[in-house]
Amino acid sequence: MSDANCIFCKIVAGRIPCTKVYEDARVLGFLDVGPLSEGHCLIVPKAHAVRLEELAAADVQACAAAAAKVGKAVVAATGAPGWNLLQNNGPAAGQVVMHVHFHIIPRRDGDALGFRWPAGKLASEDAQRLAAAITGKL
Ligand code: 5GP
Ligand code: ZN
Repeated sequence: MSDANCIFCKIVAGRIPCTKVYEDARVLGFLDVGPLSEGHCLIVPKAHAVRLEELAAADVQACAAAAAKVGKAVVAATGAPGWNLLQNNGPAAGQVVMHVHFHIIPRRDGDALGFRWPAGKLASEDAQRLAAAITGKL
């Protein structure tokens, strides 16, 4: 439920301060201390889990609903015309804090943010093989 060594569990418990923007029974939302853009917020479940796939479905739902609400409020408050919802799972994906969190990142045309997106092309034989492999693991 809570990890004594986890920085976001400490924030949830009020043992480390944060600038809160949202709270409900399952979720806390607060400003990121290292914002990528003005209004960058984090949405975290109050229950400790490292990765999204380890989080209880009710907390996944609560986080998604909170992200939609807070994202709407952040763009209204900052005037940013768009925003990204980013959620990193594992160090290979850029996760640094090992407690599930969703980034709400306001975006503006021409800002310096964004992913490298070197799109390939999905071959139909690969599509069938991959879909079978994935559905077999559900
Ligand atoms: P990750 O790379 O794990 O997806 O992102 C972790 C995020 O947590 C970073 O954007 C970082 O700035 C933010 N962060 C780390 N420690 C703290 C903290 O103590 N307070 C707040 N508000 N944000 C933090
Ligand atoms: Zn935690």
